[in-house]
Amino acid sequence: MQLQKRKKDLNLIISESHLKEKLKERNLRLTKARKIILEEVKKARSHPSAYDICVKVRERFPNIGIATVYRNLKLFKELGLIFELEYTGEQGRFDSGSPDHSHFICERCGEVFDLEDPIDKTLEVTFEKRIGAKFTHHRVEFYGLCKVCRSTKRA
Ligand code: ZN
Ligand code: MN
Repeated sequence: MQLQKRKKDLNLIISESHLKEKLKERNLRLTKARKIILEEVKKARSHPSAYDICVKVRERFPNIGIATVYRNLKLFKELGLIFELEYTGEQGRFDSGSPDHSHFICERCGEVFDLEDPIDKTLEVTFEKRIGAKFTHHRVEFYGLCKVCRSTKRA
């Protein structure tokens, strides 16, 4: 997993001026709360849930309401600044970049890992032709046991 590379990419994806511009589309301002919320999603490597993000944001902005955090996560999602991985029966997990990478989800501990290898675009073309659709993106998910869980026996 090339975490170093990914971090660099993310810094390029969202700058403060880009964020301001995006918010202007909705006639919204860049508030301190919005900046902190987005920073915490960007910083996290763990694909945090909205609740996890709220806990982190409160370390820097103690009086922020959970509804504000949720509302802004939804807004950032709509603006295409972050995306949400939705797994059945679980809280959505937020990802900071674009949906251009695959994930491995450990079925025991629930960790979500990035897999940086480029997604096979030829698959998209094949499937688009078959059903006559035009895809915006696609997501690949692998499931199993992570390295740590493989080496520890279940208690
Ligand atoms: Zn695990
Ligand atoms: Mn990811």
